[in-house]
Parts: sequence; structure tokens; C-alpha cells
Amino acid sequence: MSDNVTKLGFWGVRGSTPTVDRANWRYGGNTPCLEIVTSDRTRIIFDCGTGLRGLGNRWIQTYPDTPMEAHIFVTHYHWDHIQGIPFFAPLYNEKNKFHFYSFRSKHLGSGSLQRVLEAQMATPYFPVDTSAMTAQRDFTEIAGGDTIQINGMKLTARWLNHPQGALGFRLETPQGVLVYATDNEPGVPELDKSLRELAAGADIFINDAQYTPEQLAGPKKGWGHSSWLEGVRIAEEAAVKNLLLFHHDPDSSDKMVDAILGLARQKGGNVWAAAEGMIMTMGGPGAAVALPSTRTGQRRRTHFPAVVEGYGEDGAPFSESTIIHDLSLQGAFLYMRHAPRLQSEVRVKMEANLGDVERNGPIWLKGYVVRREPGPQPNMTGVGLVFTSEIDIEAPDE
Ligand SMILES: [Zn+2]
Ligand SMILES: [Zn+2]
Repeated sequence: MSDNVTKLGFWGVRGSTPTVDRANWRYGGNTPCLEIVTSDRTRIIFDCGTGLRGLGNRWIQTYPDTPMEAHIFVTHYHWDHIQGIPFFAPLYNEKNKFHFYSFRSKHLGSGSLQRVLEAQMATPYFPVDTSAMTAQRDFTEIAGGDTIQINGMKLTARWLNHPQGALGFRLETPQGVLVYATDNEPGVPELDKSLRELAAGADIFINDAQYTPEQLAGPKKGWGHSSWLEGVRIAEEAAVKNLLLFHHDPDSSDKMVDAILGLARQKGGNVWAAAEGMIMTMGGPGAAVALPSTRTGQRRRTHFPAVVEGYGEDGAPFSESTIIHDLSLQGAFLYMRHAPRLQSEVRVKMEANLGDVERNGPIWLKGYVVRREPGPQPNMTGVGLVFTSEIDIEAPDE
């Protein structure tokens, strides 16, 4: 990693409860967890939702022999922000060191976060207790209004409007300012003002966008969350450079989040919808955004003409004739006289006239039958396939 960037990784962006629905896999189903690695390699984690598990596993894979140290800030004690802790593998290694920060809950008293951890792992809720967590850990209580230093960087905490309380954080890195404010409902003037102060001039402002403005004005009022519209307003008033819509509702499909983002972008400004696996980098010219790969199927080199219509950075529509060089083949649906058995393997030869750039000949794919239904005529069957691999056959037996 270059020495002059701060990197922000999104390991969980879903609010309230993890989801495993196909309809929202693209934005992701893990609950809040952000990883920040600053230019001096200080590691900071915001929230311990289920995304924390993947983060821990990635660390172990990437740095199997390096002791880990990180500063972990927990915004509040609702399940979706703490649920990943028992599954964070680096906590079970004595070489690692973790500094936890959160507020004193009036319901839990002093050492609130420690109590939460112990309660999570109490019998019979979890197979081992906290004594199995051999990593060094210390706990620091912070409150709204506090400012602390982490390796020379300033971190400010402010109270947010949320049932049983929550903190928002502002981290000032050498490469830019990052503000994390989730689980906050607008409508309390002093807290609304405080949030704008927290967000002032931020390069990256991550804000709760769980509900639509209509939901927020109606049935979800008082639930402790915000909307894209409120985020856009704050971003504008606080001169935020990039707004990240976060804490997506578990019932929001990818299409719904796409639509919410579209509405927010119509209002102007740099708006993004937080997605699991997304990475933002501060330190170059502006904040750079990289999205996770969505390629879950086989890729195939191709070379055929296509027309692409869309919108550019400035929002202006375009239409362009181009060549497709790479195609992802995930599956197919076709009508057949035979009816292959459900969950059986098939081989599919496609005489696609693709003008292949690497070699001539058909594409052979191995597939798996996932669907069967009556075809358009009595002797025909509709067959759904998922492709599992490409068969590399130079000249297959005919
Ligand atoms: Zn939450
Ligand atoms: Zn909450």
C-alpha cells in the first residue's frame, strides 16, 4: 500500500439484521462494520456487525504471522452493531491487541461494552465464554463531545438521536476527514445541529439511509433512522464532499437501493450507496471509489458489437457503439425435447458466432439443471441451467 493514502473498506452495510436474500446480494447482507487503514497503518474499526467476521478472516489470511492491533469503536449496543464480536477470529489469538471504545449505557453502567461482550457469550448463548478470547483487550469509555487522539489523529464523538443512545464519529486523518453517523433520526434540533458540526467539510460522510422520506414521515417515525433525503440535506449544509448512503433496510432489495441512490443523485452532489466489499481511498485527487466484483459466473472472452446507453459523471445521457470483450456467463434458460433430470449435470455447446479473438470454435460449458417447467408445446420442457465451469475442449468428440 502506498504511504500516502487512507483506505476505508466496507465489510457490512446492512441495517437491523443480516440478510441472505438473493434480491439484495449485490449491496450485501452483513451488518455494519467498517475498516480504516491510515497512511501509518493504524487500523480502526467502526462497529462490530456480522461484517467483522469476514474482516478477521481476511486479516488472518493476509497476515498469518503478524500480530494485529486495532482500535475498535462501537456506536451502540444494538445487535446489528455487536453481533460479529464472538466470530472475530483475531480475538482468539494472544499475540493480538485490541482497544475498544464505546459509551457508558445507563442500562448497563460502567464497563458497558465489556458487559455486552460477556453477556453475548454467556451460557447458553455461545459455546465458549470470554476467557477463550486470549487477545489483549482494553476498554475505554467515551461520550458525546469527547475528543481523543489515536496515533496523532483526532477522533471526535457526538451523540446521535437513537433509542438507548448512539455515537457518531469524526476521524481526521492526514489524507482527509471521515465521518460515520449511522442509527440517527433527524428531528431533535440540537442533535441535528451537532451532526452538521460533526460532518462539516468531511471528505466522506457515511449516513443512515434506512428509510424513504415517506416512511420516515409516517410508520417508521421514532425508530431511530434517517433517509437519503436527510443525508443529502446534511451533505449540502455541511459542505460534505462524498455522501455514503448506509444501513440499508433488510427489506430493501438491490433494485430499491438503486432507486434510492438514483433519487439522491438527482439532487446533485457526490452520492454513493455503500456496498459490501466497496473500498474508498482518500489521499489521491478526491476520494476514489472501487466496487467489489459482481462476477459470480464464468467469464468468456468475446468480440461482438453492442450499443451501450447510460449516463456520464456529469449526469448527461449517452449512447455508444462498442465491442464487448468479456462476458460473464452465469446460466441459461432453454426449451428442449428432452427433460434432463433436476440437479443433474449437462454439457452445453454454444455455436455462438462471437468472432472469438483467442481461438475459433464453439464455447463448451458444464452446467447443472436447476429448473424444469412445461414448455410451449406438450413435448417441450423449459430447462434452467447454472453454468459451473467452462470445458476446455480443443476439438470435442462429435
Ligand atoms: Zn443499526
Ligand atoms: Zn440501532
